[in-house]
Amino acid sequence: MSARVATTCPYCGVGCGVLAGVDALGTVSVAGDPSHGSNHGRLCVKGAALAETVDLQGRLLHPKLRGPDGAFFRTGWDDALDRVADGFRRVIEQHGPDAVAFYVSGQLLTEDYYVVNKLAKGYLGTANIDTNSRLCMSSAVAGHKRAFGEDLVPGCYEDIDRAELIVLVGSNTAWCHPVVFQRIAAAKEAGARVVVIDPRFTATCESADLHLPVKPGTDVWLFNGLLSFLFQHGVMDASFVDAHTLGLAQALAAAENDAPEPAVVAKACGVQLSDLLAFYRLFARCEKTVTLFSQGVNQSSSGTDKVNSLINCHLLTGRIGKPGAGPFSITGQPNAMGGREVGGLANMLAAHMELHDPVHRDIVQSFWASPRMASQPGLKAVALFDAVLEGEVKALWIMGTNPVVSLPDADRVKRALNACEFVVCSDIIERTDTNVHAHVLLPALGWGEKDGTVTSSERRISRQRPFLPAPGEARADWRIVCDVAKRLGFVEGFEFETPQQIFVEHARLTSFRNHEACDDGLPAAPRVLNLGSMSALTPQGYANLAPVQWPVNEHGEGTQRVLSDGRFAHPDGRARFVATKARAPVHAPDAEFPLVLNTGRVRDHWHTMTRTGKSPRLAGHISEPYIDMHPHDALRSGVREGELARVQSRWGAMVARVRHGGDVLAGHVFVPIHWNDQFASDARVGGVVNPVVDPVSGEPEFKHTPVRIEPFPVR
Ligand code: SF4
Repeated sequence: MSARVATTCPYCGVGCGVLAGVDALGTVSVAGDPSHGSNHGRLCVKGAALAETVDLQGRLLHPKLRGPDGAFFRTGWDDALDRVADGFRRVIEQHGPDAVAFYVSGQLLTEDYYVVNKLAKGYLGTANIDTNSRLCMSSAVAGHKRAFGEDLVPGCYEDIDRAELIVLVGSNTAWCHPVVFQRIAAAKEAGARVVVIDPRFTATCESADLHLPVKPGTDVWLFNGLLSFLFQHGVMDASFVDAHTLGLAQALAAAENDAPEPAVVAKACGVQLSDLLAFYRLFARCEKTVTLFSQGVNQSSSGTDKVNSLINCHLLTGRIGKPGAGPFSITGQPNAMGGREVGGLANMLAAHMELHDPVHRDIVQSFWASPRMASQPGLKAVALFDAVLEGEVKALWIMGTNPVVSLPDADRVKRALNACEFVVCSDIIERTDTNVHAHVLLPALGWGEKDGTVTSSERRISRQRPFLPAPGEARADWRIVCDVAKRLGFVEGFEFETPQQIFVEHARLTSFRNHEACDDGLPAAPRVLNLGSMSALTPQGYANLAPVQWPVNEHGEGTQRVLSDGRFAHPDGRARFVATKARAPVHAPDAEFPLVLNTGRVRDHWHTMTRTGKSPRLAGHISEPYIDMHPHDALRSGVREGELARVQSRWGAMVARVRHGGDVLAGHVFVPIHWNDQFASDARVGGVVNPVVDPVSGEPEFKHTPVRIEPFPVR
């Protein structure tokens, strides 16, 4: 066995440290890293099975082009890169920079994310670069920015260990963030109370003290009601509110309008009044409260308001940035947060600056010495693919993601790719539902081969280190981007030879921003994200980098909690209460589509299963897609447990087997997101999901699509 390298799990945003190695026979082994602060040696079943997913079966090993007959044929890197550069150059010359776009992934390392955003926003002059992280946490980002002035998670995992009350909202933590759930279970053992707010009775609910099965989309009622309840009962930190916040009166007025008394809230949310009051009283009593939230909050047409309604309750009670207390967004992907740090969303710039802000644009342009800055925010994920279908975007580069499976109204995405003049896909897998539409396929490095950094949900930057050789001709994503940039004439700015050089430039920008002066001589509002001494990391320092939570100071020391001093990132240093108005999901069930479809993950698969699908152990948990529904609804729909059925919405259909898992309320069905047309035709639930998005964040409403269930084949 070669020495094990310390790396990071490539799945969820918990960001567990992994020790991985390969022996002389090529056998890979993994174990949890006891020294890593995210997991202290623990791994969940997905992390423990990583060794079973790194074989080369199905890998894209060489650059390929699609021939006139639709079949792919092998070519060399020079030819492939020339074609990508030529395709993008031609479209920009003929139609302008906003006719090209990039759609990237929370699987990319921070260094990959940095260079592709630099190319698009600073050199091509378009902000049409969005990421699949839009689908899982952009409502949390928007809520953080409204409340705190910057996208940041104030607390850390240790707060879970110290909490008296842990509230889980829209999060099946037991399945989706299992190592965090182990901490929750340990905290409960030590006396903490656990409340789960979720329309489904998930594995997470099994150990909860209280489960509130709220109707989907009613979270704002619930938290507006809590805000009113706390205020009416004098449960507030008045000195914190006076000194460090603005907007309480407006937020209270909006809350009291929606939720004048608990009985109204209980009715709106569809829960027992006694259970609601039990939750409100627990929250009022427990000074040390952590509210963890995830996709059930974010993936909604009112996702940003949901986020702010729960943050409002923490601001009122001053429970933020303190040990054992705070609102806590747990991110879905391994590097959703690292991507955000370098401007991975279409409305953001690197170092947590904003595209709509001319001062921020000037700072970034000056730092990059960039020839052509994007002048306005770009298209968010769903709108981006709409623009492809409508012919406004004519060249698209997709990196490490599978939007034909994962986006809502996914058949429309398929039509968009079919209609697009020029599609480039960089990926580790040769054949996915998306890659079959490419004109150029570029082989990328996968986990175990890549070298760079990721950031977890608690702001912890960790290294992903290689321990396997690059297979075939696969290359790092950052290198592919730099090679295309140079072919487009941008040699200066993309002369990176190592990921360390990219990371150091990213770190320097975080400090540069805080020292740069505006035109009027005033400093730009400082951001919390600052990587301090990391901007002087040597190659050796980067190689040996230990996990560290930003902000990082001049001595290289990280910060476990932020906002502890009550100073927020708005220019006046105060947090904002946000007045939130409860509203129902956009599409209501009706006679034609009487049931509500909810989508989500299962315990042992990851996204579109390109890796976890290789492990028999993981497939053994749940081996095929299913429709979880209430027996009464099955009877009314004419389907039986164990039989195939069709889920039909206004947007599309898919087929899966019916089961009665006991998880869903009558009137609701649940279908997991992972399966795709490589498994069986009509297995993509993305084709069924409605394309409505939150108006602030652009995050789709994956949790609420009206559907009907029909026997299959139709009798
Ligand atoms: Fe990987 Fe998440 Fe499991 Fe940790 S909890 S081992 S990061 S999938």
